[in-house]
This record gives sequence, structure tokens and C-alpha cells, in this order.
Amino acid sequence: MSTSKKDIRALTKEQLRDFFVSQNDKAFRGNQVYEWLWQKSAHSFEEMTNLSKETRQMLEDNFVINHIRVDTMQRSSDGTIKNAVQLHDGLIVESVLIPTKTRTTACVSSQVGCSLDCRFCATARLKRMRNLNPDEIYDQVVAIDNESRLYHNRPLSNIVFMGMGEPLMNYNNVLKAIDKITSDEGLGMSPKRIVVSTSGVPKMIKKMADDNVKFKLAVSLHSAIDEVRTSIMPFNATFPLADLREALEYWYAKTKNRITYEYVVWKGINDKKKDIDALVQFCKFAPSKVNIIEYNPIDDGEFQQANTNAIDMYKNVLEANNITVTIRRSRGKDIDAACGQLANKS
Ligand code: SAH
Repeated sequence: MSTSKKDIRALTKEQLRDFFVSQNDKAFRGNQVYEWLWQKSAHSFEEMTNLSKETRQMLEDNFVINHIRVDTMQRSSDGTIKNAVQLHDGLIVESVLIPTKTRTTACVSSQVGCSLDCRFCATARLKRMRNLNPDEIYDQVVAIDNESRLYHNRPLSNIVFMGMGEPLMNYNNVLKAIDKITSDEGLGMSPKRIVVSTSGVPKMIKKMADDNVKFKLAVSLHSAIDEVRTSIMPFNATFPLADLREALEYWYAKTKNRITYEYVVWKGINDKKKDIDALVQFCKFAPSKVNIIEYNPIDDGEFQQANTNAIDMYKNVLEANNITVTIRRSRGKDIDAACGQLANKS
């Protein structure tokens, strides 16, 4: 592959139209190519059969289509599918299809590796290698949509940015990908069916509020006590809870969207009454929902899932304070596809 050629999918529709005009061709050819690239997910110029042979060759001479390739696909006994996806430069990211009775959710990656340092997460152990481009995020969604149609006889219904990486550290590209996913010229999905999960980057949460985004926000909180949170998510020393909370208040004031917190309860770390009380206090400023997620062990047993009593206590106290709680069981554990397990073991 020649690296001097430009990735055609980095061009906007207007830039494609301008390109054709610069070649003494009609601007609407740009629209045709755009449709092939996005709506039809063409992997090659040859497929663009409404263009002449000469035009296809001319595109070939000037551009590449850096499409992702599903390198390996693993299917779990519970219907979960994990794709190891190869990017044009050989790096690998993972995405997961999670089926339930009524929906199919795609869990997609936003970075190769991760810039943050959560001590319980397998992805954090890979350093951040690079951000994904908008088309690389979009392609993961298309691949899962195709698999959903093939193996579950229905299109993809939801998307969560809970794969590898911190989406708010690759904000512009994530936003561009979501624009394509929700546009009628892309997949036409509703932004209400998309959740962006962040470990909590205050300044970017405010930016999202200012940008008036329509997708949903989830925050990986795991503790509402600074010392505890910093011990398991060291970047909390840089973005302490007070800053996070202020950003979330700003988000809520602008969007009026309920805030979802993701929360794992670990033995000896955050399984005491004082941890629950701090969480209740933290949630008070806006309607909140807490998703208690099961811990998926990644190694030596430094972190252990708390016992059921602790989780029941969380549920009871939160509910008594009118905070919605869901307890989520992990899916796809047998293929290392569950939360925090994405680390290219293959
Ligand atoms: N960087 C983003 C999205 C990726 S992680 C974020 O932090 O939100 C998706 C969720 O899985 C987060 O809530 C994360 O805290 C959680 N997680 C990470 N490692 C985990 C593990 N080993 N077991 C269970 N959940 C984990």
C-alpha cells in the first residue's frame, strides 16, 4: 500500500465534490462516491459501479480506502461476539456485539490502548498508541451491524463507547464518527441509542454540554471518595471529584439528561457503608442512575469482587434515596469480551 496517497474517507462531501470539479468532472460525482464510502461501506473503488472505469482508476491513483478488517471473530456461548479488528497500519482494537432479548448493542473502541491508568482495567496496561480516526470507529459499528443481521436476524439497536480507550480524550473523532452514525447518509441511528462512557474528564464534559450533543453520558465513578478513587484511578489526582461534579452539574443544567454512573464494588476497597453514603451524596445534584457492574478479574487477584451482602447494601441504600440501581451481569467472559478485559490477548 502506498502511504503517499490520501485516505479518501478523511474528505468531507464538499471536499469530494471540489475534487471532482478540480478534475474537470461533475461535482455530483462527489456525492456518488460519498454514498459508496459511507452508506454502502465500499472497500474498493472497483465496487463503485456507477462510475466509469477511468474515473475509478483516477480515484485509485489518488486515494486509498483505509478500511478496517475483522481479523478474528470469537463467539461466546451466550451469543456475545468479539471482533479483533485490524487497522490499516496493522494495529488491533477490539469491539463487541452484546445481544439481549430485545436489542443488540455494539461496544466500540475509541483509541488503540488508553491514555488513562485505571488499575483494574486490562486496556490501561497497554499504553495509548494512537487515537482512532472517525472512519475506524464507524467501521467497527458497521461490522457489528452486519454480524447482528447475520447471527441475530436484526439490525444493531444501540452503541456504547465502552471498548478500548477514553472517548473524551479523542473527542473530535468520536464526535465525527457519531455524526456519521446518526446521519441519514450513514447509518441513520438515533443519538439517543448511543452512550459515551468516560472515566470523567471535567473540561470535556463541559465541552459536550456546550456542543449540545444528543447522545447519552455515562461516568465510570467507582468511588465518590477522593482518596479511594485516586488509589484505583490515579488520574483522579489531576481531575478530583469536586471538578468532576462541577462539570456534571454544568452538563445537567444544560441537557437535563439523567446521569448514569458505572460502579464496581470491590472487596476491601469500596464495600463499606461510608462508600455508599458518599455515593448518595455525590448523586444528589441531579437525577441519577447507578449501574453496578460485575468485576471481571484481569490478573493476580489484587482486585476482588465484593460479596453479595455489600452489593445488596448498595442497592438498598441507593433505592431508599430514590436513586435508580441496576445490577449488570457480565457477558462474553469466556472470550475475554467483558468490561475491562479488552487487551488484544489474541
Ligand atoms: N474509558 C471509558 C470507557 C471504557 S471502560 C470509561 O472509563 O468509562 C468501560 C467500563 O468498564 C468503565 O466503567 C470501566 O471502569 C469498566 N471496567 C474497566 N475494567 C473493568 C473490569 N476489570 N471489570 C469490570 N469493569 C471494568
